[in-house]
Amino acid sequence: MSEETARSPEERAASSRDGRRFSAPVNIGGVMLGGDAPVVVQSMTNTDTADVDATVEQVAALARAGSELVRITVDRAESAAAVPKIREKLLALGADVPLVGDFHYNGHILLSDYPDCAAALAKYRINPGNVGFKDKKDKHFAQIIEIANTHDKPVRIGVNWGSLDQDLLTRLMDENARSETPKDARAVMHESLVQSALLSAARAEELGMGPAKIVLSAKVSAVQDLIAVYRMLGARSPYALHLGLTEAGMGSKGIVASSAALAVLLQEGIGDTIRISLTPEPGGDRSLEVKVAQELLQSMGLRAFVPLVAACPGCGRTTSTRFQELAQDIQGFIQTSMPEWRTRYPGVEDLKVAVMGCIVNGPGESKHADIGISLPGTGEMPAAPVFIDGAKATTLRGPTLADDFKALVLDYIEQRYGQGRSSGQTAAE
Ligand code: SF4
Repeated sequence: MSEETARSPEERAASSRDGRRFSAPVNIGGVMLGGDAPVVVQSMTNTDTADVDATVEQVAALARAGSELVRITVDRAESAAAVPKIREKLLALGADVPLVGDFHYNGHILLSDYPDCAAALAKYRINPGNVGFKDKKDKHFAQIIEIANTHDKPVRIGVNWGSLDQDLLTRLMDENARSETPKDARAVMHESLVQSALLSAARAEELGMGPAKIVLSAKVSAVQDLIAVYRMLGARSPYALHLGLTEAGMGSKGIVASSAALAVLLQEGIGDTIRISLTPEPGGDRSLEVKVAQELLQSMGLRAFVPLVAACPGCGRTTSTRFQELAQDIQGFIQTSMPEWRTRYPGVEDLKVAVMGCIVNGPGESKHADIGISLPGTGEMPAAPVFIDGAKATTLRGPTLADDFKALVLDYIEQRYGQGRSSGQTAAE
């Protein structure tokens, strides 16, 4: 047992730097988690991993959308055999996003029977509640940790509300029942989740895995439970934390619930990587979970991914659809241009654009943006003043207004972030 392991997780709990919980940094196939690294966005596929082409296509789409790690299910021999092929095809496409293997029940068998799979993955996700039953549990867990050590791979020990270690829960419930000051059942459940993660991490360290190879998560599906559990985990754990609300749900419900829970924790400096577990609509775009994660981090000022378009909600002063059309047009223009802009205009993700509906807040908000337009509301003169770096630059009118504004945005980007950017302006400004 190392000197570090001899101390309890509480004694080694992560310190705090600039309000951010500071944990041991973990290198996942070149992507850093924890330490000083920015909060990492990750996602998970929903294809059958044994279907190499479908999985490659979805992983590549998630990576293009900005997912920095992608998790794939490895549930049976065919899936494990497919993993190296998926990795090869992705590399051939130029998508070198690290792959995380998600294992339940048979991970110890698949990882030992398919060493190429074990080598191709950048991290293994294991759930202590699902590694095996009764006396097999510790043995299977140890096998996976030993394989990870052999391949020099990190693991995520991912506890889940729906598959909590029942032996541990029963023991803590019994202890609580005998206590003179028993807690409510929910608090015992929270403690079980945290203990399951911490005990498993301590066991992994006993097996020779360093803290810089361990990521923890303890996912639940209710916002207040998630906040309570991660606050405990954050205070008592020295490890990098993967944050996510499990089974968040579909559409706006899933987006709101995930954002509500994660925002509170991220604001407290808790969380080194996030995943938004949205249920896609049938045939829906899986990449939405990446977009939501990015928008959450960007709206909190933690990271920048794409230029922000500030648009007012519109009201009785915007009775035509022109304002919504322009806001949508600009947003779409930025989204489709970003893959090219990202390489051509370093720093462009910090750009702030405003598209406003009328004179009430239009000029003021536009002045706060790098470039903004204030459209005419109902009854106003049919003219749209454009503000650049806080000063009125020009006024647009007529049917080409949208294209004219896009040309001004592009010109601004070229001047500020392009190769021949104006003197005195830097990409980092
Ligand atoms: S800026 Fe004008 S159009 Fe937009 S919400 Fe405010 S008052 Fe309404």
